[in-house]
Amino acid sequence: MSASDLEQNCPQLVTGGDQIRRAVADARRTGKRVGLVPTMGWLHEGHLSLVQTSRAECDVTVVTIFVNPTQFGPNEDFARYPRDLDRDRKLLAEHGADLVFAPDVGAMYPAGFSTYVDPPAVARVLEGECRPGHFRGVTTIVLKLFQLVPADAAYFGEKDFQQLLVIRHMVEDLNVPIDIRPCPIVREEDGLALSSRNAYLNADERLQALSLSRSLQVAAELVDQGQLDSAVVQERMKQVFSEAGVTAIDYIALVDPQTLEPVERLDSPTRALVAARVGQTRLIDNRQIG
Ligand code: AMP
Repeated sequence: MSASDLEQNCPQLVTGGDQIRRAVADARRTGKRVGLVPTMGWLHEGHLSLVQTSRAECDVTVVTIFVNPTQFGPNEDFARYPRDLDRDRKLLAEHGADLVFAPDVGAMYPAGFSTYVDPPAVARVLEGECRPGHFRGVTTIVLKLFQLVPADAAYFGEKDFQQLLVIRHMVEDLNVPIDIRPCPIVREEDGLALSSRNAYLNADERLQALSLSRSLQVAAELVDQGQLDSAVVQERMKQVFSEAGVTAIDYIALVDPQTLEPVERLDSPTRALVAARVGQTRLIDNRQIG
């Protein structure tokens, strides 16, 4: 697609905050329901499933593409995170998004920016423990996006299960008038959860990465077979990682799906969450068990 084809055939690209706010306000004033899909780009079928759900439930779908520096730690992959706005816009054209909001870093964090959102308690464990400051960056950027794109509903993937809880709490605690809509995890046929970071994996690592989804499946199977001892299930999950040669496990957690507090007896619905490094790539996954 040439540059002019892009402009003609793709969803309108907006980079200015005032412009997107006006477009959303105009749409809502005429009675249209607006859906927001926040992403960091390098879109895949997981992101596109959120777009699809928004389109099914709303009249106008706004997708934001912004690799948010404040949610990356100093030794994380902000600089090398995959970016290709033209590629993403073509995918969004194929999937019927209406507007793409892709601001510059300087527009979101101008000189002198100094106000951050202190994330809710549910952000303290798991990812919060492994990635200090991560959720502070997430809550800050998501609240800013909610201000700039005052949509009726915002669509988030269960792939980032803890993030979804953090956003839900933030919206409730800070009285943000937006409906948070969770969407199921989209996986490859072999079980690997889709992630922009999968692009980093070489062939061997791609195989090793399967240990995340496989460990979750083993957990679900054990519970289905009547194993209710969390410690036993976690031990079996650990074995799945070590059999695959994955040693850098950040956490294997079996927790209450609302509070993220560890559960010892798996006799009520439980969320299993895992995070591990495969080569240099940090991956996360989760699923409901029991
Ligand atoms: P990201 O670009 O990684 O910040 O993700 C943007 C949104 O897409 C978040 O709400 C993610 O939870 C969601 N998402 C990412 N991967 C998947 C997936 N495999 N299935 C469903 N949603 C996803």
